[in-house]
Amino acid sequence: MKRRALLAGTAAALITSVPSSLLPRAVQAQPAHRHRNATLPPQCPHDCSLVAALQAHVDLITRVNTCRRPFRHAGPRIEAEKIGEKLIIHNYGHGGSGWSLCWGSSRQALGLAQAASSGNVDSMAVAGCGPLGLSAALLAQRAGISVRIYAKALPPTIASLGATGLWSPDSRFCASDYGDDWTRAWNDMANFSFQEHSQAIAQPGMSVEWFNGYRLSHNSLRDDDRSFEALPYAMDEPRYAKFASNFLPPSVELPPGSHPFPLPHARCFTGMMFNLPLYAQALMDEFLARGGRIEIREFRSLGELAALPENVVINATGYGARALVGDESVIPVRGQTVRLSVQPAVRYALRSGRFLVMPRRDGILVQNVAETGGFNNADDTPDRTGAEDIVRELQAVTEGMRCA
Ligand SMILES: Cc1cc2nc3c(=O)[nH]c(=O)nc-3n(C[C@H](O)[C@H](O)[C@H](O)COP(=O)(O)OP(=O)(O)OC[C@H]3O[C@@H](n4cnc5c(N)ncnc54)[C@H](O)[C@@H]3O)c2cc1C
Repeated sequence: MKRRALLAGTAAALITSVPSSLLPRAVQAQPAHRHRNATLPPQCPHDCSLVAALQAHVDLITRVNTCRRPFRHAGPRIEAEKIGEKLIIHNYGHGGSGWSLCWGSSRQALGLAQAASSGNVDSMAVAGCGPLGLSAALLAQRAGISVRIYAKALPPTIASLGATGLWSPDSRFCASDYGDDWTRAWNDMANFSFQEHSQAIAQPGMSVEWFNGYRLSHNSLRDDDRSFEALPYAMDEPRYAKFASNFLPPSVELPPGSHPFPLPHARCFTGMMFNLPLYAQALMDEFLARGGRIEIREFRSLGELAALPENVVINATGYGARALVGDESVIPVRGQTVRLSVQPAVRYALRSGRFLVMPRRDGILVQNVAETGGFNNADDTPDRTGAEDIVRELQAVTEGMRCA
């Protein structure tokens, strides 16, 4: 079979971690603000008749999901490592932004694979079937490479399907000390990822959607707030890097008394939402339709990855990489999401106090975004009491809505 280039225009020959000037040219930064999409939805309606009442009650809880964000102070590890004849490309450690940034990160990982093998890759193994594994597998296939995914769990049973599903490209991406080093590579990742997600919006199936949301407060809210990009972090977490993430339009203040919510101040914003089970299934479907093969397998060491028949292996095992490659710089940041029954009429998000609500197609998602005790906490046991508390906090607001 003819040799294939992974990505047109990649040029660097060095194997390197990504936050440096040594990235292949095609994966270097593009300016942000480029990809505002013409299909962005109109700003939130605040006419009562268009805002269906949200039902929030502990009896409506259908699921409590707990998972671990794979955070590294220095940011994700996107790095090539040679083990004998085998080339391992690490692509893990994306904190709270792995769904958002998966496409751009995987493009950088594939750029490294190409640089290290002079573009001569015909087949590839991908370890892991979360967003980083699936996006790497698909980008490789789209470049004509034959791919086999190996993973101990597949969608819909991977824990990260319990994530919020929000475009949150700088959520726990790296510690603030490392932000400057990452600016260029992060911009590249975010721009490419935003483009890819936007294309998914154009497809049928609702795997990715725009949504409108209302941010509510007793006090007036700053007009530079953009959607949920300014989510609070718990006090016991490190300072995280912030990037100039202006992908979404600014929020708009609603005139007092014009909206149905019981708090005086409301701003309306637009966001991008991933309906994760649908999105993961769509990616799996594309992978299989392109002839991809999947093997259920758990790896216990880097040596086992290197022993695979494929000469190039992408390591996209997320938090699993901590044990797999002994990388203790991967820190678990525990998080929990609560699912209420599906409410098709509710098509808006809400953010107030400690809660965030996402109008997910697979059930209304409620999260305590100010939860403490998650940093360096690997416990993935669901906390039912915490789940009920946050739903009651939401209920206090929804019961005061005037447009039932
Ligand atoms: C509460 C919460 C909310 C979040 N919200 C968002 C959000 O709104 N937006 C966003 O962008 N991100 C969000 N995230 C972060 C996001 O979920 C992660 O960054 C993302 O899942 C990382 O993807 P991954 O592919 O690296 O790992 P994972 O999704 O964890 O997938 C890892 C894969 O590797 C496999 N694997 C692991 N170890 C091994 C092994 N030893 N052998 C074989 N296979 C193995 C697993 O079975 C799985 O298939 C959230 C996370 C949490 C906890």
